[in-house]
Amino acid sequence: MKVSEMLVPTLREVPAEAEVVSHQLLLKAGFIRKAAAGVYTLLPLAWRVVKKIEQIVREEMDRQGGQEMMMPIVQPAELWQESGRWDVYGPELFRLKDRHGRDFCLGPTHEEIITTLIKAEINSYKQLPLLLYQMQNKYRDERRPRFGLLRGREFIMKDLYSFDRDQAGLDVSYNKMYEAYTNIFCRCGLDFRPVVADSGAIGGKDTHEFMVLAESGEAVMVYCAGEGCGYAANEERAEAVPPAGRDDAPPLELKKVHTPDCRTIAELSSFLKIDPAEMIKTVFYATEKETVAALVRGDREINTVKLYNALGCVTLEMAGGDTVAEVTGAPAGYAGPVHLKKVRIVADREVMAMANAVCGANQNHHHLVNANPGRDFAPDLVADIRLVKVGEPCPACGEKLLEARGIEVGQIFKLGDKYSRAMNATFLDQNGRAGLFVMGCYGIGVTRTMAAAVEQNHDQRGIIWPVQIAPYQVAVVPVNHKEEKQFDTAAKIYRRLLDAGVETVFDDRPERAGVKFKDADLVGYPLRVTVGDKGLAGGEVELYIRRTGEVTMVPVEGTVEAVKAALRHPDQ
Ligand code: ATP
Ligand code: MG
Repeated sequence: MKVSEMLVPTLREVPAEAEVVSHQLLLKAGFIRKAAAGVYTLLPLAWRVVKKIEQIVREEMDRQGGQEMMMPIVQPAELWQESGRWDVYGPELFRLKDRHGRDFCLGPTHEEIITTLIKAEINSYKQLPLLLYQMQNKYRDERRPRFGLLRGREFIMKDLYSFDRDQAGLDVSYNKMYEAYTNIFCRCGLDFRPVVADSGAIGGKDTHEFMVLAESGEAVMVYCAGEGCGYAANEERAEAVPPAGRDDAPPLELKKVHTPDCRTIAELSSFLKIDPAEMIKTVFYATEKETVAALVRGDREINTVKLYNALGCVTLEMAGGDTVAEVTGAPAGYAGPVHLKKVRIVADREVMAMANAVCGANQNHHHLVNANPGRDFAPDLVADIRLVKVGEPCPACGEKLLEARGIEVGQIFKLGDKYSRAMNATFLDQNGRAGLFVMGCYGIGVTRTMAAAVEQNHDQRGIIWPVQIAPYQVAVVPVNHKEEKQFDTAAKIYRRLLDAGVETVFDDRPERAGVKFKDADLVGYPLRVTVGDKGLAGGEVELYIRRTGEVTMVPVEGTVEAVKAALRHPDQ
């Protein structure tokens, strides 16, 4: 393609609202334009990248026996009412009515549609397993659409659904997708990690997220530093190693002490000169049913996802000061579990191993010392409800845990019979009895993957596309467009590269060399062939590698071969 004929509207200035690098660079380099908050037009360069990612995804899905299809974006409310999600999905669901007043939604995901389809079309275990997928726009009215393509309200997702006759079959399908996802992100040239993730309140079902490592990532994961261990988990999910045993210090007499204006762990710690690890932190939450007091050691943080799972509740929110005052009789900062009535108490396992701890006295400006679990208070529930931090031991091998930020580009999930049960989707098994389909769902954010690739591959000058997903692989640039020999040689190399099947742009614009180089760097073509006087005098052109900045002189006649060789070792 000739650059003079392309739509690549590069920008000098980036709109201030673009907070992260991928958003800034995709705007600046002329890949995307905003139509509304979280809704973007993908310009020709972006569309080429999307199609490349999709093709890699498609090949890996097909290799595992996936069949591509296309389901509707517009979905009738009845299906969502049947699964029970019409009410629980909340404001994220884009809802609409047709001219007859019937309710519909724009698909954020497709479990309802596909379960209904399979229920109608598949009768026998002999027709299973099935792996069906599509690549399509998804709609989610996100609370905070931001970061450009990373969190949109309209975005492209590949979603595959597996149908098996039993759990063992699901395990096979799940492992196929795990392998496919690993291949996909490798082939996209991304540095990523599969991590154990949270499966929500239903619990007990396997799920992994695939995280592209990036500083700007919204997700925090912990992973094991130990060689060959491989433990990696979403921070929400990372298990704490249970305390080795109970502190066997003899219990001392429970006493109330005056602690004026000590509302935080830090204030109390410096006032009483004790370690936060000897204190109990009491935090109140409201669920749809009740008020809950969650207890963790003073030096720990509550993991609300674990708490939510332990409680098995539907909603969980931090309780306001009024609630705290009402249930404890004291202002926030002075709450503790001793003599605490009217609320459900959930303690982290570590709290149960403490002896002679300090906690709030449920009285303004007072705390209790020598509080002992069992003797002075008895939780209704004991569970792992705290966040795990860097430096703690790995739950798998005991080595140290490290931390990294990542962008979730894909997730695979064992649904089991969640939807088939709700929607009564059955088949006849080997014994002629009705069995519920055992399902899995597997998503990849295609547009998010493109943005994640930019987060991971850029420098001050612009994007550095991994060769496999670059919009074009090579830019051919004559230094001076007025020099006929340069221009003609560049045009000749361009045509030869096209003939050789290399995706190439030819910068034929009447621009200064500096402008053309800057644009090529900004857009992020992996290679640039520069045709200038100096080289041509010796029958040579420059081959420039965007990632390393390395320049080599190659003979005009050998350019195609040199380019092909460089593309074979893309990310040197
Ligand atoms: P998140 O936790 O980031 O909101 P999710 O867990 O809700 O994502 P899934 O339902 O697992 O997302 O969707 C599958 C994939 O779709 C995600 O792994 C992600 O790559 C992509 N995705 C989800 N929401 C968005 C969005 N708002 N914008 C772009 N991609 C998205
Ligand atoms: Mg997810």
